[in-house]
Amino acid sequence: MKKDITFKINIKGLVQGVGFRPFIYRLALSYNLNGTVENRNDGVIILVNTSQDILKRFIEDIRLSAPLASHIEIIEYEAVKPFDFKSFSIVKSSSVSEQITDVSPDIAVCDECLADMKMQANRIDYPFINCTNCGPRFTIIEDLPYDREKTTMSPFEMCPACRKEYTNIQDRRFHAQPVACSDCGPEYTLYNDGQKIKEIQTIIKELCKLFNNHKIVAIKGLGGYFLACDASDEEAVSKLRTRKNREGKPFAVMFSSLDAIKEFAYFNDTESSSLTSFRRPIVLLNQKRQLAPSVTLGFNTIGAMLPYMPLHHLLFENLKMKPLVLTSGNISEEPIIIDNEQALSKLTPVADAVLTYNRAIYNRADDSVTLVVNDKERLIRRSRGYVPVPLNLKFNVDGILAVGAELVNCFCIGKENQAILSQHIGDLKNLETYGFYTETINQFKKLFRFKPSVVVSDLHPDYLSTRFAEELKLKHIKVQHHHAHIASCMAEYNLDEKVIGVSFDGTGYGDDGNIWGGEFFVCDLLDYERVNHFEYIPMPGGDKVTDEPWRMAVSYLYKIFGLDFMNMNLPFLNHINPSSIAMLCNAVDKRINSPLTSSAGRLFDAVAALINLCPVSKFHAEAPMRLEAAIDKKIQAYYSFKIGHTISFDETFISIVNDLKNAVAISEISAKFHNTIILITCEAVKKIRDEHHLNKVVLSGGTFQNKYLLENLENKLAKEGFEVFTHCKVPTNDGAIALGQLVVGAKKTSQKQTN
Ligand code: ZN
Ligand code: ZN
Ligand code: FE
Repeated sequence: MKKDITFKINIKGLVQGVGFRPFIYRLALSYNLNGTVENRNDGVIILVNTSQDILKRFIEDIRLSAPLASHIEIIEYEAVKPFDFKSFSIVKSSSVSEQITDVSPDIAVCDECLADMKMQANRIDYPFINCTNCGPRFTIIEDLPYDREKTTMSPFEMCPACRKEYTNIQDRRFHAQPVACSDCGPEYTLYNDGQKIKEIQTIIKELCKLFNNHKIVAIKGLGGYFLACDASDEEAVSKLRTRKNREGKPFAVMFSSLDAIKEFAYFNDTESSSLTSFRRPIVLLNQKRQLAPSVTLGFNTIGAMLPYMPLHHLLFENLKMKPLVLTSGNISEEPIIIDNEQALSKLTPVADAVLTYNRAIYNRADDSVTLVVNDKERLIRRSRGYVPVPLNLKFNVDGILAVGAELVNCFCIGKENQAILSQHIGDLKNLETYGFYTETINQFKKLFRFKPSVVVSDLHPDYLSTRFAEELKLKHIKVQHHHAHIASCMAEYNLDEKVIGVSFDGTGYGDDGNIWGGEFFVCDLLDYERVNHFEYIPMPGGDKVTDEPWRMAVSYLYKIFGLDFMNMNLPFLNHINPSSIAMLCNAVDKRINSPLTSSAGRLFDAVAALINLCPVSKFHAEAPMRLEAAIDKKIQAYYSFKIGHTISFDETFISIVNDLKNAVAISEISAKFHNTIILITCEAVKKIRDEHHLNKVVLSGGTFQNKYLLENLENKLAKEGFEVFTHCKVPTNDGAIALGQLVVGAKKTSQKQTN
């Protein structure tokens, strides 16, 4: 008989907090192997005594039958110093940073549990069924190590049947912390018409009745409350809009299955794997057929998602129903509600009935939103299902708190070589959201045993996050907004060198005091040089322009034509009082409340207003979204432009005005404008390559949420021989600013350069 060798297997990828160790344990037992399995910061380490042949089969089996929520990137093995193991065991995490990797994101209910929900006596239609491979995680975890007592499951005492599964290593519910059944676990309560209903089958029947009668129901989800109604029922959807005070932004829709989505939207393989992934995000798809008109309000895309909680499955089974609108349960800009009492009081005016359950949500998390571009999943909003998966960096970021931006805030903490980005927080200017922000920072401090020694913020002196950072009285580093954008993308790819950085977004404070947003940098993680940018243009009215894009259109026209543009018969001007136009031009002349900006977002605003698509905006970024939606993709033409020390759009605007005079279709103008931006960017980047001998281009900033722009620019740059880096793991918008701040802060700290 051949002698056994001790092998060390190192598995990297998403293998932590997803039931990987019990899986390895069971597999090792079935092979009769002795050894250990252990979580480390950067992966799972297995030690086993066996022969080379069996090892290969064992590894093959790991690949084939790994847990649903895991993703294996690398499996390596090597022979190590022989050790005489007597059995196979799971090594408990010892250090905090190892325990951190135990905090899994929330996982959609698995097929085996859905099957159990039809068969297991104590779990028939039990809507809190879960196992090692599925169920709530991050949203219920209060502290480490990840044990039931440290989750919001702690008030529920396991019944003997559940305990048996929980303690039996051969069971698929072995150490599934939220394990529960109808005898011992949480339960739903439906508050409807003065009645309290607790029986699940009755609840489902009542919900169906409510939806079929144009009603709106507040439903407690995994990371917060949602408002739901029949997505094909215009009466219900428009009522929801009015009651929720949400005028323009499209609603997300939950469909029963991929087949159900197919009726209303197009999707490719990458989009379907995003839809069906255990993270179950909202995926932005091209619409095929309209639901109730008020769902998307004229946009040609739809945010679609699939059921992820057992309750969703029960609902769709019983409803045999059309899709459901499922939107955050909040009042306008406030954070999504998690508290039962608050839901009952605050959501009752919006919802006709409220469905709660008696397990608390500890960490609030909205639904995540993705968009597939160039066959890669991109994140628009990173929250449930993604948080708190850390990003592994090549250098130490320990003890650094990066406080993020202001409008689309997430913060980020550093633990050794890992960056942990918070869930989507929102707009800090909203008082309740600011409360959510400070509360979540405290929760992260506790959960991840995090004590900040350095705080990093934006350069903007008035961001509430910057002020928060100041109040901490720690060593404080400030990072320019667009440098943070580029650095956040570099961190994703572990780039630590000089690159060409292109950052397009709505607004960010520049080091000259102007508002930046159309920026070309030569930069590394430590510093940046602004080598080019979009030409400055006055932003008359300051922040008002985001609600009134026509102001930007007028600003560009006034700069190029003087007051002559008033006589050009431009249709968008019909919506605007001539005296406000005169006042605005006067303000520009006198530089009254007209800061200068190089923002790409404002440029898109100006064009969207000029072609009369969106002179007034009802929600954040509506103008660029409408402009993108208008593109005629068959059009290859573009407008002229000028690249000098800055990039001027005067010629572009003159051509657009001409096109308008000649009644060229809006769809064609929009396509030509987008093609112009793509070409300008490519030409500007080529110039920088020639001068600086750099070939890596990093794209970041909210403007790259524009699918047409990102797709075509990425491809064009690649064709020109560039190595192009774009966001996949974190959002390209301000949701990843904190990650960029963190890595720049770490570099500056280690260089002892602080400001
Ligand atoms: Zn399961
Ligand atoms: Zn039980
Ligand atoms: Fe930004």
